[in-house]
Amino acid sequence: MTAEGVAVLAIGDELLGGYTLERNSALIADELSALGLEVRELRVLRDNEEHIAEALVELARDHRFVFVTGGLGPTLDDVTRHAAARAAGVELELSQAALAEVREWWSGRDTEMPSANERQALLPTGAVRMTNSAGTAPGFRLALGAATLIVLPGPPREMSTMLQESVLPWLEREVPEADLQTRHFYLFGLGESDFAERVGAWMERDANPLIGVTASRGVLTVRMRAVGDEASSAEARLDRASLEFRERFSDHIFSESEATVEFALAKRLEASQVSITFAESCTGGLAAASLCRVPGVSSLFTDGFVTYSNDAKVRRLGVSPELLEAHGAVSEEVARAMAEGALLMSGARLGVSITGIAGPDGGTAEKPVGLVWFAVAVDGRTETLRRQFPKHSRDWIRDAAARTALHLAWTHVPSPSLEAK
Ligand code: AMP
Ligand code: MG
Repeated sequence: MTAEGVAVLAIGDELLGGYTLERNSALIADELSALGLEVRELRVLRDNEEHIAEALVELARDHRFVFVTGGLGPTLDDVTRHAAARAAGVELELSQAALAEVREWWSGRDTEMPSANERQALLPTGAVRMTNSAGTAPGFRLALGAATLIVLPGPPREMSTMLQESVLPWLEREVPEADLQTRHFYLFGLGESDFAERVGAWMERDANPLIGVTASRGVLTVRMRAVGDEASSAEARLDRASLEFRERFSDHIFSESEATVEFALAKRLEASQVSITFAESCTGGLAAASLCRVPGVSSLFTDGFVTYSNDAKVRRLGVSPELLEAHGAVSEEVARAMAEGALLMSGARLGVSITGIAGPDGGTAEKPVGLVWFAVAVDGRTETLRRQFPKHSRDWIRDAAARTALHLAWTHVPSPSLEAK
């Protein structure tokens, strides 16, 4: 029986030294999943020929494809090609074709090739060379036992380019087409463990579709992956599961295509042709800045207000000094007055305000660090929201507050269909 699955071996002292984050395995896993190939093992090793060779022999025993990245540079500490040759029990040969390519890369930059780069044209006997159109180090494929080694350069941009140009087209011919489909859902305001609890059996190892979840900055990314069989195609399985999933998580799904709240918000504003403004205190413009990440928002977002001091809230948003005096800047009343003031001053249709205590100082028993009041005003109605964030760092609280404001805005964009009625 031939081994299935994929192993990735990432090579480089820098990956273990803690100053370069290992990214290649994620890029590879992501591309391969579309082909139905799973990365089942990842190893990270230093630039040591003997250890790399040993690992290659082991990984080739248990996996059908072994991806290797890094250690193909021109310097003596880059030993991956030597290790591959050693593992396969073959010699290294100078490839004239590879040498010509490396030379050409240099001449394209009007520079003579340094002699050290000649080393990059060494390939194990029997290897199939892969051109590097984004750099100098050629990659190669090499049979090792029943497995195939796929050796790629370390820099992620070069690695990705070679993956796209040379590896994926080859793999598509090697691997029989799988009926496999993936769908994404993006959720806000739900913790990872709450999600796991609510989604239950869908997360079991052999469920079909299988659900996977990752969390980043308050957004849960849910991947739903289905495999087709005689009973049902992957597409049909996903359609059925998606219906149920949307129903169960309707209050949290903010998008099925945009991974960030600001992109989802911009899309919704655009679709409804609703203009927006922000009145921000503790976030100091973060919410507005996030929305401005989205290209083309100028027709929906004209201006926002960074009103940090009480005086600014009075001068720029028309918040009454008496209100501030009576309730304090971090209060439901002031949040409300800020959102309504921002609407009045900007002429936007939807206004969101943020006022809170980001810390580390300034908290009291009554108003602790992490307390943030939000208000959203639209079409003559204003709603408020109180959030007590955990007492993390100032940056963490400000970031969480900005994203909560964007999400709050998202939930209050009047839909175009309601308007038509
Ligand atoms: P190399 O092929 O070893 O000459 O790789 C050159 C550079 O690519 C290294 O200095 C790293 O900055 C980067 N690199 C190599 N492997 C990885 C990896 N797995 N993830 C992210 N960056 C990497
Ligand atoms: Mg290296």
